[in-house]
Amino acid sequence: MKAVVFHRHGGPEVLESVDLPVPEPAPGEVRVRLHAAALNHLDLFVREGIPGLKLSFPHVPGSDGAGVVDALGEGVTDLFPHLAVGQRVVINPSLSCMACRFCRAGEHSLCERYQILGEHVDGTYREYLTVPARNVKPFPETWTFEEAAAGILTYLTAWRMLITRAALRPGERVLVQGIGGGVALACLQIARFVGAEVWVTSGSEEKLEKARKMGASWGVLYRDPDWAKKVWKQSEKRGLDVVVDCSGTATFSDSLKLLRPGGRLVTCGATTGPRAEVDIRYIFWRQLTILGSTMSNLREFDEVTDLMYSGAFRPVVDRVFPLEEAREAQEYLASAQQFGKVVLRI
Ligand SMILES: [Zn+2]
Repeated sequence: MKAVVFHRHGGPEVLESVDLPVPEPAPGEVRVRLHAAALNHLDLFVREGIPGLKLSFPHVPGSDGAGVVDALGEGVTDLFPHLAVGQRVVINPSLSCMACRFCRAGEHSLCERYQILGEHVDGTYREYLTVPARNVKPFPETWTFEEAAAGILTYLTAWRMLITRAALRPGERVLVQGIGGGVALACLQIARFVGAEVWVTSGSEEKLEKARKMGASWGVLYRDPDWAKKVWKQSEKRGLDVVVDCSGTATFSDSLKLLRPGGRLVTCGATTGPRAEVDIRYIFWRQLTILGSTMSNLREFDEVTDLMYSGAFRPVVDRVFPLEEAREAQEYLASAQQFGKVVLRI
């Protein structure tokens, strides 16, 4: 089968197209013939190398994938009678042991042996993949493979951040940093669905305008040195109920200062860097809450995908590349020009 892998960490040039054997499904697993894989910033971090993450090479990147069930491992039909060969499915990239105390409590992304497809194990930049049967879910005929692949990791992440962690309520005002990225767009759609008012920051006027068309009420360019002052002024010096900051170093300190008393900052990443200086006085005097979030549990995955498939919101696909052009696709993602997901057609 065709696959894109890397044999060492580095820039986009380390990606190469290779031929790999087709994997056989173990008991409890299904094999999926993938038709689309969506890119995430995680793919870039894994390729560059994450401290403490030891990979076995060659490594197949990619966490998001959609395809057709191609073979069922032993015992799958008994446990998952709704699954059959020929079904169109998406893949939940969260791999949990289902046995540790966190998994037993339903907190699968806190699993003691937690793994993410494409990060800790081989991912979706390939034609065939085997995963536990509980990790696949059928999607509607009205969705393309590209849309289905685009609507997984960022949506389950955004759902857990806003709904479970930040407990966003109707009428609240939320600022989403860096609109255009996959998680930020999913946050915009979910927050609007909940009935919250959404403000955004972005690197371009064009993206701000697109965000307004999707329901954002107000936006500011983060390259403007006075962006934080402008947000504060726009809020009539009252601050925001919730800020979603997955940008990190560049904005974290300001994001915290923009919260109203009792406000919540929620983060799932640090694309501009992992360190920030915070003024602790803001945290205790304004009684702020800083919430970390990673991926989702199985219930949250079902909630957000059920909503999407029933028509509540739909992922934005910015651009599709063939699998062979994975390198160009990753370079495009790294350039931050996109508004929506970058997807590989397999
Ligand atoms: Zn576990």
